[in-house]
Order: sequence, then structure tokens, then C-alpha cells
Amino acid sequence: MQKNSGTIIRVSGPLVEAEGLSAPQMYEMVRVGKEKLMGEIIELKKDRVAIQVYEETGGIAPGEEVVSTGRVMSVMLGPGLLQSIYDGIQRPLHLIEEQSKSFIIARGIETEGIDTKKQWNFTSRVEVGSHVIPGDILGSVEETTLITHHIMVPPHCPIGKVISIESGDHTITDTIAVIEDEKGVKHDIQMLQYWPIRKPRPKKAKIFPNEPLITGFRILDTFFPVAKGGAAAIPGPFGSGKTVTQQGLAKYCDAQVIVYIGCGERGNEMTEVLNEFPHLIDPNSGEPLMKRTVLIANTSNMPVAAREASVYSGITIAEYYRDMGYSVALMADSTSRWAEALREISGRMEEMPGEEGYPAYLGSRTAEFYERAGAVSCLGSDDRNGALTVIGAVSPPGGDLSEPVSQATLRVTKCFWGLDAALAYRKHFPAINWLTSYSLYIPNVVDFWKKEVAETFPVLRTQALSILQKEEKLMEIVRLVGMESLSSEERLTLDVAKVLREDFLFQNAFDPNDAYTPIKKQYYIVDAIMHIFNALDTHIKEAGADFDYKDIGKLALFETVASLKDFDANDIASFEDYKKRIDEKIQTMSA
Ligand code: ADP
Repeated sequence: MQKNSGTIIRVSGPLVEAEGLSAPQMYEMVRVGKEKLMGEIIELKKDRVAIQVYEETGGIAPGEEVVSTGRVMSVMLGPGLLQSIYDGIQRPLHLIEEQSKSFIIARGIETEGIDTKKQWNFTSRVEVGSHVIPGDILGSVEETTLITHHIMVPPHCPIGKVISIESGDHTITDTIAVIEDEKGVKHDIQMLQYWPIRKPRPKKAKIFPNEPLITGFRILDTFFPVAKGGAAAIPGPFGSGKTVTQQGLAKYCDAQVIVYIGCGERGNEMTEVLNEFPHLIDPNSGEPLMKRTVLIANTSNMPVAAREASVYSGITIAEYYRDMGYSVALMADSTSRWAEALREISGRMEEMPGEEGYPAYLGSRTAEFYERAGAVSCLGSDDRNGALTVIGAVSPPGGDLSEPVSQATLRVTKCFWGLDAALAYRKHFPAINWLTSYSLYIPNVVDFWKKEVAETFPVLRTQALSILQKEEKLMEIVRLVGMESLSSEERLTLDVAKVLREDFLFQNAFDPNDAYTPIKKQYYIVDAIMHIFNALDTHIKEAGADFDYKDIGKLALFETVASLKDFDANDIASFEDYKKRIDEKIQTMSA
């Protein structure tokens, strides 16, 4: 690898300009100044380069040296990623702290993203003599008790024949297999791969995402599902529930691997994530959630450039597990902090500012990021599919969605979960507004719903949603001319909408019995509520003009709905009994 050096000519916060590097490449990693701070070339000018520096640049001065590494900004991929807590450029936080020997992060620290000394027990899956292509699984390692880590032929390795492969204990840098290509050149394969963070990892093809990511959040699964391989945005003002929702998703969603990127609104918020995550228990296995999680944390004392890189480091790691055939979910909280980092660096580069000072390429960068989500046919000769679902929180100042980051995000995500300050203020949680939220993945998941949940689920869902939508219009009439002006059918709509809001949509993330609802149970609850609606609606229509709506109140049907949440999800008979009891009560009314 050719090494060469240049000289710093300007320092502006996280941005350094240098000249004299002989063959600089875009996105190449460089070491900046006497302290050898880590940086990345983000612009090539005629004789100069612009470098964003991932560490504090205080004290660095023109005249100091910049040394290129010849390597593009990359992450290390291999066993040992899971359970890690990294900064934005894949430095394990505990190692940075150890090396800093204080709470202030020291500069110029060199750490490896994955422990290269640890031994892993590799079990080969292919025989000597087998022909392999990039992406083929050579064998595996039990990375944690929850995830088997498949060792794949790296994407850039030519097609060839396995001439040796060795099961047993190895470090990630040991050669575990040798592949001889068609020209007779031998390629050593290690469990460790490097991949440039800004370049999507290759796949055979994108496929149609046709399964919902089951989250246990009733409002999301029933009304606004995201497909596995889809992209969703959660915009919301400060305090509306972005972090609680993202963490709930990380904990309960049915992705196999979780990558959580935290860019805190405030320093202490990230500390909360760092304190809480390692204690979260995976509800399915009862084991620590970290065993299938990679956490990337940008604490407030980290420079903006590391925050800018963090989303790319995270999504590259997520793609790597997708390539093994896993369903991966990535949560980024909040992408607004990433966009602000982009804005700061662009400003320092004196680029022409676009809307609100964000660079003109904010839209294309945002799109590039979300486009890395997808359900894919993985590289390799087997028929392996993987999925990467991306869920990005956005914090628009004052909750105003017309601002550039929200707009750029909404253009590229097909699922919108709009958090609402007014709902949060009223303590309606999750404060996701059912009138403004949407999902364009319904056509993707409808067959799954019919097959795996119930044939009638899509129809019931549409009916329930339309009741919630009608409520808004009817309330407007009530505000203007009073409840008396409504027909019995309309009053029923209002009552059922209230039940849907209070007993179905309201869900307390901190109540262990309420935080997660299996999708089938969500269906049974909606089915029971819609059963009440339809039975009463029919009754009202049959009774005709003399029907007195007060008679419904006497039955106290709506008060019983809350109890449905306590029913056992597998005890279908209890839901059927419930509906029968409802019918019996309604019959007493007609008698
Ligand atoms: P944000 O990240 O948008 O600033 P948070 O996620 O920190 O907001 O949520 C703020 C507060 O709202 C939480 O501390 C919690 O009290 C409440 N909250 C949010 N979502 C829920 C929920 N699903 N269930 C119960 N409380 C919630």
C-alpha cells in the first residue's frame, strides 16, 4: 500500500484542508496532524483535498502533516460485531474509554472494530474441491447463543475452487479457506472482511417485500405496517415518543438482528440508551437483546463528522447480516442530527447552501441511505433471501414537517408514523396520529395477513380505520351544533371510534402486559370491536326512526372492550364467547 503525505493549509472545526498528497482518493482515510487524528477525504479539488476529521481538531495547525492510508473509509465485518457498542466510526466505546483513561476521549486512538485475537469455532460447510462464487457460505460460527454467523465468500473474490478449508478455532484474521480462481491464482479467505461504508453491499436482486415486520405495536401492525425490507419514518417533535418507539421496535420487532444508531437530542438521552440497552431482555429467548444487536452511539461529546459517518457504518453492518440471509432492522434516532452534521460540514466547505442552510444534496443523500433498505435475493449460489428494514426518526423543529429533513425523508419512505405533540400532551401513547400516518405497504402484506392472520383482517382493518377517520368529521359537527344533531348511526360511530382509540390504539410501552400484542390477538380485538359495531348498526337500522340511542348506553357494552386486552392470545374460544355474550345483550334490547 502506497503511503504518502501532505500538509495542512486550513483548519475549520471538523474540516481540514490539505495539499501535497500525491494520489488522494475520494473517501480515503487519512491521519491528520501530530496526533494522527482520523479523517476522511470528502472532496478532491485541483491540488487540495477537504478532509472531515472524526476527532476534535482543537490545537491542530496549518503546516502539520496529513498521511494517507490508501484505504477507503470502511468497517470491519466478521464475528464479534454483535453485542458491540461503537462510536460513529466503529471504535468500540469501552476501548476508547480504556485508552483515554478518563471521561474525556483522547485523540488519535487506534482501535479495531472487532477483536482480532479472539478465537471462534469455525465449522466448514463445503468440501475441498467445491466450486464457489461470491456470497456462498463457506461455514459458520456461533457468534452468540442467538445468532449463527455465516462466513461468506467476499463479494470481490473471483469464482473458484476451494483448495483448502479448515474447521476449528480461528481468529478472524486467520486463513480459514483458500480459493483458487480460474487463472490458478490463490485467494486466502479470512472470517474478516472490510467494506467501504458509503457503498451499498451487492446483492443478486431486490425482491418484492411481502411480509410485514411484526412489531407488537397495535397501531403499527394493524393500521400502518412496514414491510420487511421497507423503510419507515417517525417524525415527531421533542418529547413525542421517538426514542420510546424506536426502542420498543428494537426490543419487540420480529427482525433477527437489530442495528440501533443513536444520535441523541441531548447528551443525557444517549446516556440513557447506553445504560438501558445492555439490560434489555429479548422477549422471545429471554436472553439479553444485545446478543442480536449492534449499537452505535453518538454521544454529545463526539465530533459532528463521526455522527455523519455513523449512519453509514450502521447500515453497512446491517447489510452484512442481511447478506447472510437474516431479517435485519435498523433504527436511526434521530436522522435530523445526521443531517445537521452534514449541514455543518457543508457550511465549512463553503458550499452553496440550499433550503435552511442544508446542502443541495441533502435529498439525494437521504434517498441513498433509505434505498439501502430492501428485501433481497442474497449473493451466492443458494436461494437465500435477506431483508433490511430501515426505520428513521426525524425531529423537525417545532414539529413542522415542511422543513427540509422531513421532506427529504418523506419522499423516500413508504411508511409514515406521525408522532403528534398534542396526543403526547394528552398522554395518548404511542402518540402516533392515526389520521396523518400512512403505509403504502398494504398491497405488499395483504396476502400474508389473509394467510397468516385471518381472511377478513384486511377488510376489518379498513372498516376500523374509516370509523376513526369519520370521528374527526363528526366531532366537527358536534362542536358546531351539538351531539343532538347526530343520528344514532353517527353516535355509534363516535362511541366505537372512542373504543378503538382508548382500548386498541392506546398502548403503554412501560406496562409489560401491554407493550407487545401478537398480531393474531390484534385481529381478535379488532374483530370483536367491529362485531359490536356491525351488530349495533344493524340493530339501529332495523329499529328504524323510533330507536333511542340511550338504550345502547344501558347495555354498557363498550365498557367491556378493555378486558379483551387481558385475554390469552391463543384462547380463540374466549374471543368467540365474548362475541356471543355481546349478541345476547343486544338481543335483550330488541325484546
Ligand atoms: P422523543 O424521543 O420524541 O423526544 P421520548 O421517546 O423520549 O420522546 O418520549 C418522551 C416521553 O413520552 C417518555 O419519557 C414517556 O414518558 C412518554 N412516552 C412516549 N411513548 C410512550 C409509550 N408508547 N408509552 C408510554 N409512554 C410513552
